[in-house]
Amino acid sequence: MAKQEADWIDCYSVLGANPGDSLQELKQKYQKLVLLYHPDKQSQDAAAVEAHQHLQKFIQVDQAWKILSNEETRREYDLQLRARELKQSWPVDAQISLEDMDWDSDTESYTYGCRCGGEFVIGKEELEEAEAIVCCDTCSLSIEIRRTT
Ligand SMILES: [Zn+2]
Repeated sequence: MAKQEADWIDCYSVLGANPGDSLQELKQKYQKLVLLYHPDKQSQDAAAVEAHQHLQKFIQVDQAWKILSNEETRREYDLQLRARELKQSWPVDAQISLEDMDWDSDTESYTYGCRCGGEFVIGKEELEEAEAIVCCDTCSLSIEIRRTT
């Protein structure tokens, strides 16, 4: 089921969470927010605007939790998130041929030195994906790996 752009919500920031959080951590954050924004928990004399904002927030928190609490939908969401991040915030700075990279047999990955002194690292399995874009482990530069045939 493809999600429409307009429906996109940043589930992790809605929950104040990180993509690396465990289900347990996500649940704790979700429960805290739900208590805060649940329509039943709003004080009677709260301004209408505020009540409306809290309701919107409550709906978002609930949506985010529905996606992230299920292993399958979370995995799907994480993939979408990664694809979006690749497109939006990681412009490609250089194209590198696979032959220019160093093979590290210990970690079964290819490495390439970044000009910042950091490294681009890509595992063997990741190379099988269609778009092989790798971010530096230190700075925000990224490279696109070309496979020579
Ligand atoms: Zn770098």
